[in-house]
Amino acid sequence: MKIEDAWVQALDAIKEKVGTQTFELWFKPLKFLQFKDHNLVLEVPNRFFREWIEDHYLRIISETIEGFMKEKVGVDFKLGEVQGTTALKKIESRRENRRVKLASRGIFLNPKYTFANFVVGASNQFARAAARAVAESPGREYNPLFIYGGVGLGKTHLMNAIGNLIIDSSRDVKLLYMPAEQFTNEFVYSMRNNRMDEFKGKFRNLDVILIDDIQFIAGKSGTQEELFHTFNALYDTHKQIVFSSDRPPRDISPITERLRSRFGMGLIADIQLPDTETKLAILGKKSELEGIPLPQDVALLLASKIKSNIRELEACMIRLGAHSSLSGRPITLEMAKEVLKDLIRDDERALSVESIQKTVCEYYGLKIQDIKAKKRTRDIAFPRQVAMFLSKTLTDSSLSDVGKHFGGKDHSTVIHACKQVEIRRDKDEDFKRRLDYLVRKIRSCE
Ligand code: ADP
Ligand code: MG
Repeated sequence: MKIEDAWVQALDAIKEKVGTQTFELWFKPLKFLQFKDHNLVLEVPNRFFREWIEDHYLRIISETIEGFMKEKVGVDFKLGEVQGTTALKKIESRRENRRVKLASRGIFLNPKYTFANFVVGASNQFARAAARAVAESPGREYNPLFIYGGVGLGKTHLMNAIGNLIIDSSRDVKLLYMPAEQFTNEFVYSMRNNRMDEFKGKFRNLDVILIDDIQFIAGKSGTQEELFHTFNALYDTHKQIVFSSDRPPRDISPITERLRSRFGMGLIADIQLPDTETKLAILGKKSELEGIPLPQDVALLLASKIKSNIRELEACMIRLGAHSSLSGRPITLEMAKEVLKDLIRDDERALSVESIQKTVCEYYGLKIQDIKAKKRTRDIAFPRQVAMFLSKTLTDSSLSDVGKHFGGKDHSTVIHACKQVEIRRDKDEDFKRRLDYLVRKIRSCE
């Protein structure tokens, strides 16, 4: 049998023996280099990888391949580290060039945030599709596009992806991406220094404007006024406008009604909390992009412990990668638990019935005592039911535990509350969104 064929078959046999997860992690990255003097030479991504393979899987490799070759076979590993890092470095330096080139035109986009690097799941599918449509035909599909969602869920990524794609397809487009805070600062500066003509010239002659974190302008009436006129100038000439926000337009306050209504004139798309599968897929993508090998069980730990913030998820992975390269040991479940113990505990602590009560009360403008008391007026009773429902679904507390936290109600009251909330959620789309918002708020690690 030819060695190449034997290697392909050996890989299949090994996959059978070790299982898909181990195979994906430790065998898939192996590259066949050559076979000489009864010696099989395989390329491994780095030193840690080689040590791990030699310690754990050398025998299974040599035995399996011997079975197919019907002869004694030695196995050697060669480091592919140089090629590996160079490839990543090349991509990075290409990105850096692009960043600088765009910046010289006053366009501050992050070249890393593209549609290709954005993982689609049920939670973000709608927002991504809308963003994509806008990027493909700016000013014609949805105008404005208003994307909202909790902290670290990919709004800035999508905004940049829109910008990057538009720039790619029409080089001379006049495009601006800017956080609302910067818009505000530039406006204030221009006012103070009598440079409003310049300001208007800059913002009203654009083809595409992407303003991130628009909730920032709440309470800033001068900026709102100016944004309103900028909006109209661009909108009337069919220029694309995209906003992002951590909350839906109706929850941005205080803000003038006329501006609020502009936000909703096109399409409003929300990004919801990612499910575990999506989080795993994102981790897979990021580990590939960053060149950090992440075992499946570690990915699962991160995805299940970090509920609501993808930035956090990514940060954990980077931390593990750094730890691994400093200590010279591969990332394992044990290491992950040790390195991330503070973070993981914090996340659990955050989801207490108390914190849920606090968030719900803040949202409905009630005092904590109100929902713990017996009052049955509707403006208190319903928020109380919402808080009970969220306590039951977001924490591990039993029905009677939840009841106790609400001034000693019994478990049937909690069941009733959960039912009421579910009924309302299923028939009232607006309420469902408010509920999603509360969940995000409760879970966000701000
Ligand atoms: P936000 O602006 O909503 O606070 P970001 O867009 O900054 O969040 O996203 C936080 C991090 O999570 C970024 O590094 C981003 O690339 C990553 N991220 C979020 N959603 C996704 C996704 N669906 N696929 C890949 N990466 C994602
Ligand atoms: Mg952001």
